[in-house]
Amino acid sequence: QNGGPYSKQCAGTIGLEKSGATQNAGHMKKILKQRHSLPIFPARQKLLEELKKNDCVIVIGETGSGKTTQIPQYIHEERWDRKGTICITQPRRVAALSIAKRVAEEMNTNLGALVGYSVRFEESVSSATKLKYVTDGMLLREAISDPLLSKYSWIILDEAHERTVSTDVLFGIVKAAQSNRNCPDKDPLKVIIMSATMDVDHFSNYFNNAPVLYLEGRQHPIEMFYAKQKQDDYVLSTMSTVFQIHKESPAQHDILVFLTGQEEIDSVAHSIRQVAKDLSLAEFPKLRVHPLYAALPSHQQLDVFRETAPGERKVIISTNIAETSITIPGIKYVVDSGRVKIRSFNPSSGFDVLKVKKISQAQAWQRTGRAGREAAGYCYRGYTQEEFRAMALNPVPEILRSNLASVILQLLAVGVKNILNFDFIDKPSPDSVREAVEQLSVIGAIIASSDNLELTPAGRRMAQFPLEPRYAKAILCGPEHGCTDEVLTIVAVLASETIFVNPSGKKELAIRARQKFHSVEGDHITMLKIFRAFKSSKENKMWCHENFLNYRNLSYAVEVRRQLVQICQRCNIPVLSCQQNLEPVRRCLTAGLFTSVAELQIDGKYLTLSSKQECSIHPASVLFGGKPAYVLFTDLVHTGKAYMHINSIVDADWLYEVAPEYFRTRHIKKVCSAVGS
Ligand code: ADP
Ligand code: MG
Repeated sequence: QNGGPYSKQCAGTIGLEKSGATQNAGHMKKILKQRHSLPIFPARQKLLEELKKNDCVIVIGETGSGKTTQIPQYIHEERWDRKGTICITQPRRVAALSIAKRVAEEMNTNLGALVGYSVRFEESVSSATKLKYVTDGMLLREAISDPLLSKYSWIILDEAHERTVSTDVLFGIVKAAQSNRNCPDKDPLKVIIMSATMDVDHFSNYFNNAPVLYLEGRQHPIEMFYAKQKQDDYVLSTMSTVFQIHKESPAQHDILVFLTGQEEIDSVAHSIRQVAKDLSLAEFPKLRVHPLYAALPSHQQLDVFRETAPGERKVIISTNIAETSITIPGIKYVVDSGRVKIRSFNPSSGFDVLKVKKISQAQAWQRTGRAGREAAGYCYRGYTQEEFRAMALNPVPEILRSNLASVILQLLAVGVKNILNFDFIDKPSPDSVREAVEQLSVIGAIIASSDNLELTPAGRRMAQFPLEPRYAKAILCGPEHGCTDEVLTIVAVLASETIFVNPSGKKELAIRARQKFHSVEGDHITMLKIFRAFKSSKENKMWCHENFLNYRNLSYAVEVRRQLVQICQRCNIPVLSCQQNLEPVRRCLTAGLFTSVAELQIDGKYLTLSSKQECSIHPASVLFGGKPAYVLFTDLVHTGKAYMHINSIVDADWLYEVAPEYFRTRHIKKVCSAVGS
């Protein structure tokens, strides 16, 4: 339905216009004018001088000033990228994709030619690519095979203030690569750290007192409104604020709303559209509602930038992605729920959980700033001034609050042996490192002695997969059970967004339509059956529609799976199928996820085997309502209480088989086997 150049979401299949160059002269003129009006433009010469003089420069500038789109182009215009590509990292895939698209347009070239991008399972680059936008996770992965990052002459670590785990680790790796390339027989590496706000001294100290360049921002006055009293339901109060603005302000100025996650945002978008329909058209501007979150399909992401028609008003409902990563022109009103969904590690349960939390004051100001980019604006805060003052000043860096297993596996694969001595900008606590090391040891990825961590051959292979180590482990167990084929499918579906479609009002119908795929073995096998049926269906799209399945996400899973098969081939892992006997598949999953198993208690409750945390089966699981003795789960979701999400029934004996050491000290009671379904 959209004419953007992203016709499909899948890697390798993004529909590039093959025709030569692209835009008409009038359009290019307009773009050049826009480029010259950005706050960064007057600073171009000064910036280039600093970049010439120094190996590492820190650039600070308001969101929207032109850092991400312009600086790489300036470097290219000077031909300073002759000896290697310019790589620009982004914490999120949406940003990498949409910015690459924009820069390709500004440079009047096709995406994938001079300007490209690379995000997990999706890439568009060629030998001609000089400006490459990547997620921080992808660059980290590249460092495994090339710790000197020798393809690149410039590395720009963008959105540094976000302090994702991958960016934090890249700081150390890029710093080391730069110093190791500082010798006559190698080409030097230039580094730029870019950020909207941050603890400048901390960064400058870390990067050997690198000079800091401040870009003069452009900020118009913003009128602030706080909630008069504490709001019980931030979603509801956010929505009513949107309608209050919509009704009271006649103009067509756009509204940016900050909420937390995909499900919440989709449901709010739906409700706003419903309510808007009932408002008389003559009286109010027409509302165009756009969700914006990291997992959004590419063509929808780009929709957000489409200009509104006369008489129309755009409402963008976004996660914290619009805080600094993406700038949308035309915003006059910001509605801030004051919440963000973040991943954090719960040391008492040993699991990473996604939780909705209060934002920090720094984030609140970033959100507010979005309203005053082009003219004076308004910011509505869904919290009181007291609540604001009680917020933390800055967000806690992710590395200090999340599970480090993946990162440590990658660091070891890059060749960093002593994790605690790694040059972290902020060191993770020894406890969280110990916990991750323990996790990696129990799945056989590493051998840990008191003073050394050694990657095992299996661990080295696990690091090849862009997956959490536990899923890589499940894949590695495939050949032994002759079911790598099926395990790859399940992992690919898990790596995609949800394949289920549950339209509000038709939930029952949807569930009934999918009943035929339900497996008594659990959700993983159910997903496998759906995937198989999808592959053998003739009219794919129609079939998905009839079965309330998401065509796009299933197609994406097909592509992810194809790439995982390639990695298996590279690693000499045979991809065999177990056909209809699916028990081996659950055994493989157990081999990877045995630390995520809960045991039924006499009182009917479940406790996790790893940490004795109480939990229940999620109502969306096919196992809901049953009482199997042992449930293997993919995630623990906390909404009030802890729910096991995406589950399979497993056998207690398998647990001893796959991890005898681990379960020697954790007693499996087996008291409830008799109750098992
Ligand atoms: P920064 O990195 O400093 O936050 P950017 O370089 O991302 O700024 O953006 C500079 C400007 O480019 C933005 O203010 C916006 O007006 C424009 N821009 C960025 N992406 C797009 C897009 N996809 N469509 C239209 N304009 C865009
Ligand atoms: Mg930027």
